[in-house]
Formats: sequence, C-alpha cells, structure tokens
Amino acid sequence: MLLLAVILMAATTLFALRITQLEMHALAKPHQNNELWYVTNTALELHNLGRVARAAAANPPQADHDELSVRLEVLSSLLEPAEFAPRVSKSILPTLPNALQTLEKLSERTESWSYRLANSADPSQVTQEIATQVDELSEGLRHVVLAVHIASSIAQDNIRISHYQQFALLAWILVALLVGITLLVIKLIWDRQIMKRLSSHLESLNKRLETRVNRRTRQLAESKALLMFILDASPSEAALVNAESGDVLFINKTLLDKLELSSPPPQLFLKSLLVAPEQGEAFIDELDQYGRVDNWEAQVMPHKPYWSSLSAKLVEIEGKLAHLLWGFDVSEHRNLLNLLETQANTDSLTKLYNRRAFYKLGEQVLDGCKRYAHPCSVLMIDIDHFKRINDTYGHAVGDAAICSLSQTLRDTLRDADIIGRMGGEEFAVLLPHTDRQQALESAERLRQAVAATPINSASDDLHMTISIGAAVFNPQQNATLEQMLITADKALYKAKTTGRNRVEI
Ligand code: GH3
Ligand code: MG
Ligand code: MG
Repeated sequence: MLLLAVILMAATTLFALRITQLEMHALAKPHQNNELWYVTNTALELHNLGRVARAAAANPPQADHDELSVRLEVLSSLLEPAEFAPRVSKSILPTLPNALQTLEKLSERTESWSYRLANSADPSQVTQEIATQVDELSEGLRHVVLAVHIASSIAQDNIRISHYQQFALLAWILVALLVGITLLVIKLIWDRQIMKRLSSHLESLNKRLETRVNRRTRQLAESKALLMFILDASPSEAALVNAESGDVLFINKTLLDKLELSSPPPQLFLKSLLVAPEQGEAFIDELDQYGRVDNWEAQVMPHKPYWSSLSAKLVEIEGKLAHLLWGFDVSEHRNLLNLLETQANTDSLTKLYNRRAFYKLGEQVLDGCKRYAHPCSVLMIDIDHFKRINDTYGHAVGDAAICSLSQTLRDTLRDADIIGRMGGEEFAVLLPHTDRQQALESAERLRQAVAATPINSASDDLHMTISIGAAVFNPQQNATLEQMLITADKALYKAKTTGRNRVEI
C-alpha cells in the first residue's frame, strides 16, 4: 500500500510538472494575441496616410509625393506582413470575416495607390483620390479595431479561465501531495513508535530467554555432573562411545578397573569387550538393528574373562550415533547356577549322573542314534550280595565299593558312553553306536574288570562281583530308553537267578 501511494504521488508530481512545462512553453512564445496592436497600428498608419494625402491635396504645387509613397509603403508592409513580422499571429482575425474583408479591401487600395502614384503622369489625381477615400476606409477600420478589441478580450478571458483551471488543478495536485506526504510522515512516526515498542519488547524477551537458558544450562550441567557421579560410583560397568569411530565419550571407574586401565582409553569398540568374536559381532548387529540390547549374558574381558549381563542402547549425542553400554558382573550368579545344575544332575557319592540326568541325557543320545539309524545298547549293573558287604564290613566299605565300581565304569567305558547311578548299588550305562556283540564285549570286559579290582585300595583281598543285564535297540520295536532299561533289568534278573557275576542279554 505504501509503495503504491509513493508511486501514485510520483506519477501525480510528473503529471503536474508536465502541465507546468507545457504552459511555460505556451507562455514563452512571443507576440501572441497582438492582433489588436496590428489593427490599431494599421488604423494609425491609415490616419497618417490620410493626413499626408489631405495636406498634399490642399496644396498640389507643393505636394510631397515622396512622403505619400513612404506612407503607402509602410501601410502596405503592415497589410502584407513579412514572414517574421510581429503581426504573423492572427488567431482572432479568421473568426471575424468582415474584418478580413475590410483589411483585404484596404490592401487592394493601398497596392493600387502605390502603383499609380509611382507610375502615373499626374500623381495629384491619386493624391486627391486617397484624400477623399481615406475617411471611409478609416471608418471601416475603426469597426475592425472594435471587433478585434472585443474578440481579443474574449480570447484573453478564455486564456485566463484556462489558466485558472490549470492552476486550480495544480493546486489540487499540490494539496493531494501535501496530504500524501503528511500521511507518509504520520505512518513513518507511527511505524517508528511501533518499532521502538517492539524492540524494547524483544529486548526484554531476549533478557528473559537468556536468563532461562543460563538457568537451564546450569541445571543441565548439574544433572550431567550428578549423572556422571552416579555412573562413576555405580557397581555396574558403563561406557558411552561413538558408534563409528569408537571414540570414548564416557567410561566409568568400574569398567576402567575391569579393563585394568588408570585413565579412559581414546577408543573402545564394544565388540572387542566380548570374549567370543562372533558373539561380539552379533551383539553389535542386534544393537544397530533394534536400537537396543537387553540383558545379554556373555563372557567379557578377553584378558581376564568373567560373565557379565550386558545391555546397550543406540543413542544420538550431538547429532552423532553413540553406543551406551552398561553391564554387571554375573559370574557369581552364573557359578551358583552351574553348581546347582551340577548338583541337580549329579550323584553326590559317585559324581556320576543321577537317575534324572541319565534319563534326560540318555534320551537325547538315543534320539540321535534313532535318527541316524545307529545301533545302541544299554546295560543294567547291580553289585552281587551287596547287603553282605554292608553287613560284614560296614556301610563305609559299602560306600567305598560303590565308589570303586563307579571308577571302574569310568575307566573301562568310552567317554561317549553315559553312566548313571540309578539308586543304591544299581547302575545303568547307555552305549551309543554299539551293537549286540559290542555290548556283550563291553559288559564282559566290565564284569571282569570289577572282579579284578579290589574294593579298598588299602587291602587287596576284598573283592566284589557284578551282574549285568544288557539290551540292544531294535529298530522294529522303536523302544524308548525306559523300555530298553526294563528289558535290560529283566536280563539282569536272569543273570542274578542264574548264578550272578554274569552277563545276560
Ligand atoms: P543281590 O545279589 O541279589 O543284588 O543281593 P544284594 O544283597 O545286593 O541285594 P540288593 O541289591 O537288594 O541290595 C541292596 C542293598 O544296598 C540294600 C541297601 O542297604 C544297600 N544300599 C543301598 N544304597 C546304599 C548306599 O548308598 N550305601 C551303602 N553302603 N549301601 C547301600
Ligand atoms: Mg540291588
Ligand atoms: Mg545287589
């Protein structure tokens, strides 16, 4: 709007300047509206001609025809204007036809008189004619003067009215410009005041913002310091590293101690913390894919391995991806679990698998044999007349006998064979990849080894024997471990009833 107003004002000013310029040019033109002067002058010259003609006619002998010729020439020059003579501008005369007729008539007479005066043998006759006709012509010219006077007055009045109108227009334009300039000045003052108010408001806002930013920065610094303190004092290991470069942004004291470092290293790659390299890769892959990893139990610190529960999060720090890692030592927990698992699966006296573990592991191995159609056998072993050993030598010797048998089983059988104490002095063995013949041979070798081994290493004379019942897996029956053990138990019963210290299958 403001720009439009300024453009409008400039256009109006140009328009006013153009009007003024045109008017100036019109006013600067010389000899305008001088018809009155022209006809008056002509009338005056006609009067002079009349005076000279009358004087010459009154006294013909002393007549000065030269002066008359001069007067006729002057009049003629007035009536036939030269190109640059003052009377060229005859704007009113064409509007007065009578006046033009009168002037033309005067012109014709003057020309005729001039010619005849110069060429006639009797100039006094021409002089006489001029003297008698001048008055009539003067009378006609007087009317012309009057008409031109009136017409000139009207024309002057029209010019005056036109000037008045143009000046009035210029005055209005000036008034409009004045109003425009006044409005612009008011707008400028108004804008300036608004700007002043705005800038003071902005200044106060800036001050408030600055105070808030300072307070917030201080709070953040305090929270950061507190967080660092907590993380540093935490029994968990914690670190924040750049995801790509591995630059260490933060590392706490617990982790530094675990790494056996006194000051933070410049770089630390999380995957290098895990003992198994493939686990390290998998850890980073999961972190990058899902943005976090929770309670990942792994062995860490390759130089001094221990079990740790690791968690990590992908975070953005100052526009860059970073890995936030924390973990805590679960070695004790892990060892306890291992111990509990061992205890749950192991017989405390012989350290062999107990019944439950034997079944669990035995079934897995049997499944494997079934899947690949490998032969498989089981043995049920029972100490002969064990009650007698207990009764004769005491319970401790009975225990020693059980332990001795366990050791013989371990020594005689393969590592792949699964040995379990099923209860009391009864043992079971699963022999994978073992057919009927091999099972018989193993059982026989075992029987002989037990018979040859003294129960107590201190005294060589105390021996024991065992009876063994064997069963071989039959693919047609597709028996379970339980069923195979029942079959082996039947064979054992047969071995007992047919004399003991034997192998039956
Ligand atoms: P058989 O030749 O028919 O097998 O006769 P046996 O005397 O060995 O009879 P049985 O197999 O029934 O004997 C089981 C005995 O084993 C009963 C129990 O007192 C004894 N026993 C069971 N567990 C233990 C143990 O942990 N330690 C000791 N010392 N004896 C045990
Ligand atoms: Mg028994
Ligand atoms: Mg027995």
